[in-house]
Amino acid sequence: MTSGALYEGKSKTVYPGEREDECLIRFRDTATAFNGEKKEELQGKGRLNAEFSNLVFEFLAKNGVQTHLIKVVDETSILAKKAEIVMVEVVVRNLAAGSFSKKYGVPEGTALRNTVLEFSLKSDEYGDPMMNETQITALGLAAQAELDEMSRQALRINGLLSGLLARAGIKLVDFKLEFGRYQGGIILCDEITPDSCRFWDAGTHEKLDKDRFRLNLGGVLEGYQNVLGRVRDVVRQV
Ligand code: UDP
Repeated sequence: MTSGALYEGKSKTVYPGEREDECLIRFRDTATAFNGEKKEELQGKGRLNAEFSNLVFEFLAKNGVQTHLIKVVDETSILAKKAEIVMVEVVVRNLAAGSFSKKYGVPEGTALRNTVLEFSLKSDEYGDPMMNETQITALGLAAQAELDEMSRQALRINGLLSGLLARAGIKLVDFKLEFGRYQGGIILCDEITPDSCRFWDAGTHEKLDKDRFRLNLGGVLEGYQNVLGRVRDVVRQV
């Protein structure tokens, strides 16, 4: 682990903040897929992801979503509230893709009759297995009231983000969220970036996200830069 770090994830490192209830999070250039089996350094990814995530978190905060972001420190780092991360990841799906398509034999891009919400254990060791709510509460990973609140916030974030991206000519196919406990409530933590979402060009369905890396399509950073530029323009207008 990097010296002085509190925690080192696959693409971000967390350092102590000046205050006990704050931390510094740095977005690195490391790209990983398939639970870390495929790993590369993509120079400039950290900066692109930091700017994208900050734009989105600021947009969500303006719309009443509580997030961990306190302020932007530099091109790759933010000061964040030090929340206790809920060890349950939330995936939201608007169109079939990725593991959903594979697992259930549904072609990518198939419309879904309702938004899909999935929970999984946040665990590299066990490969993030999907869990249902009774499994999560049985193991004490989160209380039912917390799961209800995470679901409510995930759906609200989906509505806000889908609308924002639609204005940028991008479809929000699916994405993953992490939440944390902070001062008695649940706040949005982690990141919202092309690493954690699937973004398709609304017209051509071109992939503009980490699937470019996963599937060796090339132009990974070009895709990330493309989405960032389009979303930046739209955020400036709202
Ligand atoms: N995702 C993520 N981290 C994970 C698992 C999934 O950020 O550990 C994101 C992924 O980028 C996609 C969505 O969550 O936008 C749904 O991923 P899926 O379950 O299809 O899994 P994958 O295709 O990544 O195996």
